[in-house]
Amino acid sequence: MRTLTSLKEDTLEKEKLTSKFGIDFIIKNNQVYLVKKNDSLKYYFLLENDSEYFFKSLLGCKKTKYSSKSWSFIPVKGDWEYIKKKNTIIVLPITKMCNSDCKICFMKDRLPYDEMSIDDIKDVLAKIGKNKKILLFGGEPTLRDDIFKIIRLIKKSRNIPTICTNGLKLADRSFVKKLKESGIKRILLSFDGFREEIYENLRGNSGHLYLKLRALKNLKDFKIKVYLSSTIAYGVNENEISNLLKFAIRNNDFIIGINIYPATPYGKFDISIKKYLTPSDIVSMLEKASSGLITKEYVLEFKRLRMNLNRVLSKFKIFFPCYSYYHSHTLLKVENNQLKHFISLNDLKGVNEFIQNRKYLNLLVYFIKNPRLVKNSLSFVLRKFNSESLGKNVFIVQLGNVITPLNYLPVEYDCIEIEKLSNNSRDENYSHLNGELRLEPFRTLTTGPG
Ligand code: SF4
Repeated sequence: MRTLTSLKEDTLEKEKLTSKFGIDFIIKNNQVYLVKKNDSLKYYFLLENDSEYFFKSLLGCKKTKYSSKSWSFIPVKGDWEYIKKKNTIIVLPITKMCNSDCKICFMKDRLPYDEMSIDDIKDVLAKIGKNKKILLFGGEPTLRDDIFKIIRLIKKSRNIPTICTNGLKLADRSFVKKLKESGIKRILLSFDGFREEIYENLRGNSGHLYLKLRALKNLKDFKIKVYLSSTIAYGVNENEISNLLKFAIRNNDFIIGINIYPATPYGKFDISIKKYLTPSDIVSMLEKASSGLITKEYVLEFKRLRMNLNRVLSKFKIFFPCYSYYHSHTLLKVENNQLKHFISLNDLKGVNEFIQNRKYLNLLVYFIKNPRLVKNSLSFVLRKFNSESLGKNVFIVQLGNVITPLNYLPVEYDCIEIEKLSNNSRDENYSHLNGELRLEPFRTLTTGPG
C-alpha cells in the first residue's frame, strides 16, 4: 500500500493519472485541486482535503467512451443499447420549476429547458428497457401537475420511480396519499438537520424544517421508504451529522439510508463558508458519529468490492454498478437501533484480496466457512436486479460530492442523467466526449491554492 508521502512526491503517479483520465490537478499541502483553464483565467477547484483518500478512491476506476465530464448526458444512437444493458439508475430532470430558492442550488438554473414533455419521457422509457430506477429530478418534480401521470407511466414501463424532492409539498397529507396511490415506493428527501437556522442559511427559509418534518411523518404513515439527502456546509451544520445519523437509524422502519454531500461551490452558492468540506471530511465526521464504524478504510474497501465484482461479473456480461469515483455507496444494517457492518471489514478485505489475486478456489473455501457471508454477498449482488433483495434493516450511506466537473469522469458509472432529447448530435450541444466544461465556470479560488 502506498504511503501518503510517497503519493505526494510521486510525480510519475500524478502524470500517469493525468494522462489516464485527462485531468489536470495539483497537490498542495495534502489537498488535491483540479486545475481548469477558461479563457485567460485559471481555476482551481478543491477536490479533496486528503490526497491519500483521493488516490485510493481512484484506484480501479477507468475512463470509458461513456465517461462524462459534464453532469448530464444526451444519448445518441448506440448509447441507448449501452444504457439498456448497463445502467440501473436514470436521472430525469423533468422541470426547472421550484418552490424554493435555495442559496446552495446548483440545479434548476442550469437546465436548458423549462420542462421535459410527456412525449420525451415516453421516448426515454421506451428506449431504456426495464427494472431501472428512475429518479425524477428538477427543480422540484412535485410541482408538475402531471406528476402522478408520470409516475404511472414509469410503473407501466416496468421501471421503478423515485422522486428527489425538497419535501415542501409532501407536508400535505393528501398529496402524499396520491403519490402512494400512483405507485411511489421511494422518495429522496433533502434534509439538512434539525435547527431552523440551518434552513435559513442553506435554503433561505427557516420554515422548511417544519414542512419537512411533516413530510417525513406523512411518508412514514403511508409506508413510503425514504433516503435522506443532507448537504453539509462547514460552520452551518457539520455538527448535525450525528443527529441525522441517529434520527435515520431510529426510524429505520421507513428511512433506509442517508446521502451526505459537502456543500459544493457550484451554481448559485450564495453562502460564505470559511472552509470547504470534501468527501473525506464527511467520512471523518461520520466516523465520530458512528463510534468508529464508518471509516475511510471501510468506505474504500466497500468501493473496492464493487470494482472487483464489476470486473468478475463483466466476464459473464453482467455489469455491476460502481458509481463514479467521487461517490461511494456503503451498506450497513440496523439491529436493535444500532448500526452494524453489513459485511465485516475483515471479510471485505479477504474477499477483495482473493478476487484481486484471482484465488477463486480460496474464495470458495472462505465462503463455505462463512455461510452468513454467502447470504450477505449474494443479496448484495442480487440487489442489482431487485432492490428489495437485501431484506429489512439495511441502511445505505452514500457519500460524495454533489457535483464537480469530475463527478462522472473516470468510471464506468452506473447513474446517468438524461436531459431532454435533442435532434442535434450530442457533440454540438454537449461536451461530454471532448472534455470541455459546458457549465459556467465554478466559482472558487480563482487565485489558486496559496
Ligand atoms: S436545491 Fe432543489 S429545492 Fe432548492 S432551489 Fe434548487 S432545485 Fe429547488
